[in-house]
Amino acid sequence: MARTPADAVDREIESWLGKICQALDLDRSAVYERDAPGEPVRTTHTWLRANSPPFPRNYDPGKIIQKTTNWVMAGNQLTFSRPSNIPAELADARRFVERYGPKASAVIPMWAGGRVIGAASFGKFRSAREWPPEVLDHLALAVRLFAGAIERKQSVTAIYAARAELRVASRRNLMSELVASLSHEINQPLGAILSNLGGLARLLGQGNPEPAMAVEAVNNAIEDTKRTAEIVRRIRSMFKNHVEHKTAIDIGALVNEVVKLTAGEAAMRKTSVQVEVSPSVPRVIGDSIELQQCVLNLLMNAFDAIAEAKSDRRAVTIKVAPEKAGWVGVSVSDSGAGVDPAVANRMFEPFVTTKSKGMGLGLLVTRSIVESHGGAIWSTPNPGRGATFTFTLPVAEKKRSRASGRAG
Ligand code: ADP
Repeated sequence: MARTPADAVDREIESWLGKICQALDLDRSAVYERDAPGEPVRTTHTWLRANSPPFPRNYDPGKIIQKTTNWVMAGNQLTFSRPSNIPAELADARRFVERYGPKASAVIPMWAGGRVIGAASFGKFRSAREWPPEVLDHLALAVRLFAGAIERKQSVTAIYAARAELRVASRRNLMSELVASLSHEINQPLGAILSNLGGLARLLGQGNPEPAMAVEAVNNAIEDTKRTAEIVRRIRSMFKNHVEHKTAIDIGALVNEVVKLTAGEAAMRKTSVQVEVSPSVPRVIGDSIELQQCVLNLLMNAFDAIAEAKSDRRAVTIKVAPEKAGWVGVSVSDSGAGVDPAVANRMFEPFVTTKSKGMGLGLLVTRSIVESHGGAIWSTPNPGRGATFTFTLPVAEKKRSRASGRAG
């Protein structure tokens, strides 16, 4: 489990649920996850013995047995060897069991990093069943291993989301966003390390009856420590030592991705964004992270221009089309008030800004990226209103004109 890659964790858990049920002669087991306190509890993994009595598929435990779900998510373990053992105060669990028929069940809260992130249930439908303490101990340990793996999976997903968010945020409040995201990412593996060491301490306190499991807990902690270091390395490289990595890129798809990432920002600003990719656009050579940054910078400037103009028409159009032979152009047009003549000649220089909270670096960074790709960037006033910023990128094929892609 400790070595399973994050994208294989779900499959691995499901396979273990099956193995555990087979070994203990059980009929159904499931894992339930909750992203944060107050969020709904979801059924995320199930194993069901063939020919078992019908059971609500992917049922919503937080709705059907709300009280019992809350009780388990508060950290309580529910075990019953026969339905009459269910505590009287959990009336909804009694009703549920009468209706769907598990005759015995163990529902174990899933702890990770000092909080309950879900639960796992192990049930028998065909007959009642005793739960000897050593069986429950083993199940609890299995659930702890599931919890560690699920945390790891969630944190990898969170890294991808955080990277995307960070790119959007990098125009604003760079440092505070970075620090917040960094501490969030690192707290997760730290929590997992803590919970593994807690489990280990417990095993050692009992005279270490399960050396193999103690080793497993140590290995988990080692893996999580490595992961923490990797998170730091990745976040640093994103901002500092980004090594340029140029590949053939579908620039239309890249533009669409940036537009998707900024959909929330566009909605907030009540601005529509339209992307027009000409069908004949070839792939370009470039570094996708850097090019995303360019599109993002121009898009944010377009949003700002529209906001400042306070106009009724709030629309941005991004066009991707072949420029001259061997070059592709990306142009971002807005319906703002156009470039202020006072900065028109200097806006690509550092710290030139007309915005109260502007840094005057966006266009400079964009131009330096475009030029490092061999392209050019310029702006033109729109015939109606607003401005269009266009940059060019070299086509990925070998044969292209050597001159830079600047039009005219
Ligand atoms: P910042 O956005 O922090 O001001 P930039 O380097 O991105 O820094 O932009 C410099 C200036 O160029 C802006 O302050 C603005 O005056 C002008 N500018 C950039 N994009 C546009 C646009 N789409 N429409 C009008 N003016 C723009």
